[in-house]
Amino acid sequence: MKEFEFIDRLKNNLPKEDGVLSIGDDAAKIGNLLVAKDILVENIHFLPSTPIDFVIHKLFASNISDICAMGGVAKYALLGLGIPENYKLEWELIDSIKNYTKQYDITLLGGDTTGSKKDLFLSLTIIGYAGKSVLLRSGAKPGDLLFVSRPLGLSRISLEKELGKNNFKQIHKYSHYMNRPEVELAKILSENNFATSCIDISDGLGRDAGHISEESNVGVIIEEENIPIHHLTNFPVNPVDYFLSSGEEFALLFTVDPESVKSFLKESSKIGVSPICLGYITEEKGVYLKSGDLFKNISQQGYEHNF
Ligand code: ADP
Ligand code: MG
Repeated sequence: MKEFEFIDRLKNNLPKEDGVLSIGDDAAKIGNLLVAKDILVENIHFLPSTPIDFVIHKLFASNISDICAMGGVAKYALLGLGIPENYKLEWELIDSIKNYTKQYDITLLGGDTTGSKKDLFLSLTIIGYAGKSVLLRSGAKPGDLLFVSRPLGLSRISLEKELGKNNFKQIHKYSHYMNRPEVELAKILSENNFATSCIDISDGLGRDAGHISEESNVGVIIEEENIPIHHLTNFPVNPVDYFLSSGEEFALLFTVDPESVKSFLKESSKIGVSPICLGYITEEKGVYLKSGDLFKNISQQGYEHNF
């Protein structure tokens, strides 16, 4: 079964509670708190050879990024670990957890630890405070402009190097574990109510734009001529394809009402963020890459787990 088919089925078979934002966005909202969970599994999200420090960074980054995607500030966490027999890196694990909780100003509240037959399993539940406005995947309106917070694509190239699919000298095979969540930008978007919708890029631009399209009931048009490719031209890959499909980037993808764009760009430049305007929102659902007069459906570009 496919990941999103399962999540949809689960969501549709469970009761909802009034006033609680539950399954379907980057985090749930209960009162003024935002809660999310992301799991990392050995041989799925990382390899036995991946240094544990990179894995722990990604565990924190992916979770904090979900709170950022809601315009919140991550503050507390619960850590779940399944540790394989004869594991030797307990101290490295503890050092990395200490390092990244400090770096991202997270207090570890608790968790659970168990043995595991073979693979290392890590799960973080992150808790944060909602900002002035909560950024949802729904809320994009026809005419809004679509922005991404930074260029995409390098994550996939780095991942493919770790997997032995390329041997490009210009990239580190573990740099894809070090993508940082957009903590500062999230604050600005929330504080000024700049974004009509928002998601973080975890599955890939095509699929994540698809979540905005689905939840907002709108179309997303990405103009090929707006896609920056300078950072990818050193690599013998199709830059547009990599930009559209690279996952675990933890950039923010969001929509802005044209009336707010000027003040939004002014505020984001103050924190050194240069958002890229990729396209615009239309009425008819779907995600399309517009190249001249041609429209190509790209809602499947990216990653989905299968089981
Ligand atoms: P993200 O990539 O932002 O972490 P996901 O695509 O993993 O989001 O999940 C989409 C939505 O489905 C989220 O609201 C998430 O909380 C929910 N979800 C995913 N898996 C489960 C599960 N096993 N039980 C309940 N909710 C889930
Ligand atoms: Mg997310």
